[in-house]
Formats: sequence, structure tokens, C-alpha cells
Amino acid sequence: MKVAVVRELWEHERRVAMVPDLVGKLTGAGLDVVVESGAGEPALHSDEEYTAAGASIAQGSALDDADIVFSVQPLGPDRIAALKPGAITVSFLPLDERETIRAARDAGVTAFSVELVPRISRAQSMDALTSQALVAGYHAVLTAAERLPRFFPLSMTAAGTIPPAEVLVLGAGVAGLQAIATARRLGARVQAYDVRAAAADEIRSLGARFVELDLPTLDGTGGYAREMTEERAQQQRDLLAPYVTGSDVLITTAAVPGRTAPLLVERSTVERMKPGSVVVDIAAETGGNVEGSIPGEEINVGGALLCGGRNVPSQVPVHASRLYASNLVNLLLLMTHEGDVSVDLDDEIIAGVCVTHDGTVRNSHARELLG
Ligand code: NAD
Repeated sequence: MKVAVVRELWEHERRVAMVPDLVGKLTGAGLDVVVESGAGEPALHSDEEYTAAGASIAQGSALDDADIVFSVQPLGPDRIAALKPGAITVSFLPLDERETIRAARDAGVTAFSVELVPRISRAQSMDALTSQALVAGYHAVLTAAERLPRFFPLSMTAAGTIPPAEVLVLGAGVAGLQAIATARRLGARVQAYDVRAAAADEIRSLGARFVELDLPTLDGTGGYAREMTEERAQQQRDLLAPYVTGSDVLITTAAVPGRTAPLLVERSTVERMKPGSVVVDIAAETGGNVEGSIPGEEINVGGALLCGGRNVPSQVPVHASRLYASNLVNLLLLMTHEGDVSVDLDDEIIAGVCVTHDGTVRNSHARELLG
């Protein structure tokens, strides 16, 4: 069976869904791998590397006769329509991508959304949200460190002592914990807050201080947070404000599945930060944790620099691609037996990621959104 790896068309996407290193895992399982020419270039992988690893290169589209298609961004209705019935697409696929989901249903394509990998131990190696959040948390801190007109570490020199930077991380899930670890490695003093009960110990285990607010925790299902009421949200913003204004760097990563990102910091609070402070809002694309953050833009807010994240994992394309490709390979190998791929909807992981199959929309939330 043929696994096609496409060239990403979105201008801000630098990742690729398969790396040469991992081609052997698929060919070893009896699958053929065809990569569109130039697909790996933004992530610094040449066609020659893929060929040497056992893939073949398609000069035009690799979609003809593809049984499985790997991509980072969803293929889009036109490319879905070019697939044969029964083909499988594996990519990020937000459930509000109505046109793509409708096209997959109508073409009889099985569309998998890697956002939907269940958070169970058996699926950890396939969890693309986790692998990409790790990259985002790391990169957010480097962005801040580079823009901060101060040192991160404590420096004791003959010319005097420089205190460490004060970093505040809001949201301590996968991205937030990685941000804490990265800021600590750079020598900053770190504090962090999250609404989930388990977060306090996780924050402390990384050598950061947990910010205790006099508010109840908000644990939802599946290890995720619950949405706040507006009253609680305002209380939280007010209680967090002094921690924000006392920090040199603020990194925000808070999210609630299926909702716009919670607003954690008002613009007036950012305005009260010290001149030269840096805020990196990873959640800018999903509504923003910081009022006024714009994806992909860096704006001056009363002397502080507010950076809105846009496709942050793509800014570390080599390793983001390596981890993402590994997630996809592990998912596909779960369905592969002696060179044959079959969709077993009795498997919790396969059923979880399956959005469309055999002419129907299987995911109930996607069905509701289609109306
Ligand atoms: P996420 O991206 O949905 O959210 C990021 C963080 O924002 C979460 O920690 C959430 O609690 C926090 N948050 C939400 N609202 C907030 C608010 N108002 N104020 C402050 N923080 C707020 O979550 P995630 O990073 O994908 O993961 C969340 C949890 O799931 C973590 O505990 C993680 O360890 C766990 N997890 C488990 C598995 C697994 O078991 N396979 C895999 C990945 C993650």
C-alpha cells in the first residue's frame, strides 16, 4: 500500500509529516512511501535523503492512487476530492474545518484527526498535541529570552551582581511545563499557575514556585481543565495581576479543549509591567490568554513587548517534524499487518481519531458542527 507525504501548502507551515529517518519503519512494515518533491525542504530534508532512506519522489502530486496520506495541515477539499474512496488521511484536522470534513465524507475518505488521539498510556507515542506543545513551550521561552533586554541567569561578576530574570508561566500543561523547564535551564527564577489540582506538584517538581490563589481548582475530564465562569475569570485576572506586573517575562499557554483560550491577563496589566518586559502568548491563535495579542505579531504595550504565537512548533521545524512524523508512524503501524492497513473501529485509539469513514461523519461533535 502507498503512503503519500505531501508538500504543505500553507505559507507559515515549515514542518513536514515524514522525515527520512523514519521511512524505514514504514517500508519495513511492507508499505511504499512516496514523497512530493520538495516536501521536506522547509524542515531541511532533501529529496535525496528520502530516496536514500527508501522512499520514492513524486514530481507532481503524490495523491494519485495513495492509500494513506500524511500531512501536517488538513489537505483541503480539493486535494481530498482527488483521493480514491477508502483512502486514509492523517493530519491535524480541527473539527470546524467543515468543507474539508464534508469533502472527506462525500469522497468516502477516512479522515483521521491527530488532535483527537485519546490521552491514554497506550496512545502516548501517537500524541501529536503533546509533541508539538513541547516544542511550543521551549520556543516561547527562547523568543522571550532573545527579546528581553536583561540576562536570564544570576550573574556574579567583578563588575557587580545581576539578579536572575523573573519568569511567570500561566497554564502548566505540556507546553507550560516545558516552558518552565527551559526557563529554569536558562537560569531564571520561575513561578507558575494552573487551575488543575495536579499542576502544583508538577510545577514544584521542576524547581519553580507554584502561585497559590485563593480560588477553587477546575479539573475537567481526561486530565484537562474546565472552562471558568466569567466571575471566576475576573477574580483570577485580578489575583494574578500583581504576579504579572512583578515579572520580567510572562509566558501564557492556557487552553480548554474545544473552547476559545481563557483570557488571563488584561491589557492594562501588561501596561503596568516594567519597560522592556516580554510577554509571549502561545494561545494567541485560539483567542489569546492576553488581551490584545495578535498571532504572528509583536506589539509594544506601554513599554512591554507582547508577542502573539502563530504556529509556534513550525518555528523549530526539524525536531517538530521528527516528533510529529513519529506520532503518525506509530498510529499507522497500529493499523498495519503484513503490509496491509485496515481501520479497526473497535480499537479505542482508531475510533477516537476517526472523523469520517465509509461515507459517514463518525465524530459526533463534527456532525453537530456540520448541521
Ligand atoms: P491544554 O493544552 O488543554 O491546556 C494547557 C493548560 O492550560 C492546562 O494545564 C490547563 O489546565 C491550563 N488552563 C486552562 N484554563 C486555565 C486557566 N484559566 N488558568 C490557568 N491555566 C489554565 O492541556 P495539555 O497541556 O494538552 O494537557 C493537560 C493535561 O493532560 C496535563 O496534565 C498533561 O500532563 C496531561 N496529559 C496526559 C497525557 C496522557 O496521559 N497520554 C498526554 C498529554 C497530556
